[in-house]
Amino acid sequence: MLRVDVAIIGGGLVGASLALALQGEARKRGWRVVLIEPFAPGDGYQPSYDARSTALSYGSRLIYEGLGLWPAIAQQATAIERIHVSDRGRFAAARLSAEQEGVPALGYVVENAWLGHCLWQALDPEVIQWRCPAQVERMEPTTEGYRLTLDDETLIDCSLAILADGGRSSLREQLGISVNQRPYDQTALIANITPERDHAGEAFERFTESGPLALLPLSEKRCALVWTHPSRDVERLLKLDERAFLAELQQAFGYRLGALKQVGARVPYPLVLIEAAEQIRANLVVLGNAAHSLHPIAGQGFNLSLRDVRALADTLSASAAPLGDLATLQRYAGIQAGDQTRTVAFSDQVTRLFSTDQPLLAAGRNLGLLGLELLPPAKRWFARQAMGMGTRGSPQ
Ligand SMILES: Cc1cc2nc3c(=O)[nH]c(=O)nc-3n(C[C@H](O)[C@H](O)[C@H](O)COP(=O)(O)OP(=O)(O)OC[C@H]3O[C@@H](n4cnc5c(N)ncnc54)[C@H](O)[C@@H]3O)c2cc1C
Repeated sequence: MLRVDVAIIGGGLVGASLALALQGEARKRGWRVVLIEPFAPGDGYQPSYDARSTALSYGSRLIYEGLGLWPAIAQQATAIERIHVSDRGRFAAARLSAEQEGVPALGYVVENAWLGHCLWQALDPEVIQWRCPAQVERMEPTTEGYRLTLDDETLIDCSLAILADGGRSSLREQLGISVNQRPYDQTALIANITPERDHAGEAFERFTESGPLALLPLSEKRCALVWTHPSRDVERLLKLDERAFLAELQQAFGYRLGALKQVGARVPYPLVLIEAAEQIRANLVVLGNAAHSLHPIAGQGFNLSLRDVRALADTLSASAAPLGDLATLQRYAGIQAGDQTRTVAFSDQVTRLFSTDQPLLAAGRNLGLLGLELLPPAKRWFARQAMGMGTRGSPQ
């Protein structure tokens, strides 16, 4: 039996970021924090730190700067200097540039494995206690918090439980927290691509008949591909040999980066918008994908969760009430509610608009892109949303 102040369930990108965000205050106030995770990065398969890359917004860079982690992340981050948004078969395109927005970069692309490595290295084992490999099998409320039962039968009592165990959280279900789910009937296909030409810091978002496609600039002149397809078509794409796959991608993307020469492992991710009906209870916070899981094409999911992390850590640090106090957690939820609503809506609407092949909507989308290009305020609004800086309370 272990008694701690904070138990973070899930050491993925979000759980580990929260542990880091709490580390300073925990050291100062003597909080005992435990982080529970079944897989360590580098130990083969780890769901949060797999072959994917994440587009960190400029706002996320500022948060990691505040946590002192940015210099490490930056060693292997590729700056997005320009974004080119286009629609296959239509003439309009919108171009966003860091220079026009007056920022050093619109965002940064980082491989998840590197981000995980940086996060885990930064955690001080004297302050954040690791239980890894370990899995929480059960959690139940007690009069003073929650009791967790691990798979090795250890019991952990905590004043504040943070549920950061991902979108398919079985513990969320165990606690009776319902979810609103909207399946997109789409699957994202992820792979690293080596094109003939250097990406020169340019990211591409392109809307194709099958669904939105993003090519993000990565280190070693590679690009990270996120290509959404109707789920029924993905098995076929996975079975194509390298040449046939690249030919199909080339046709959808065009020749802006010259010939597409090489493709790495292709991994499918079925897409569904999940929102937990409750994110806080006394002594409990639901965080990250367990709280809201978004379509990846707009690159907002983790960036939003990182803003939640910062707001939660700041709120807990500013409070003199005992950890787990409902009013404090309500304050946190109130701070982030607007940001969450706007970001979920932005991400969902962009995805749905750019996934349609209905002629009227597609024509509207074309006009939208034209409008973005012609109307500086609209473009600025879009750029700030994409940078994770378009919301009140987010870093300026
Ligand atoms: C294809 C794709 C591309 C994406 N690209 C971007 C992007 O460019 N920008 C962006 O902002 N977002 C992006 N996202 C979203 C981003 O990946 C997620 O927001 C992020 O992974 C959420 O992290 P998490 O820690 O909440 O959940 P997860 O990554 O699912 O991690 C959950 C962790 O909990 C652990 N766990 C599970 N069950 C238990 C248990 N019972 N006990 C203890 N631990 C447990 C797991 O092992 C795991 O480590 C993308 C998502 C996808 C699918």
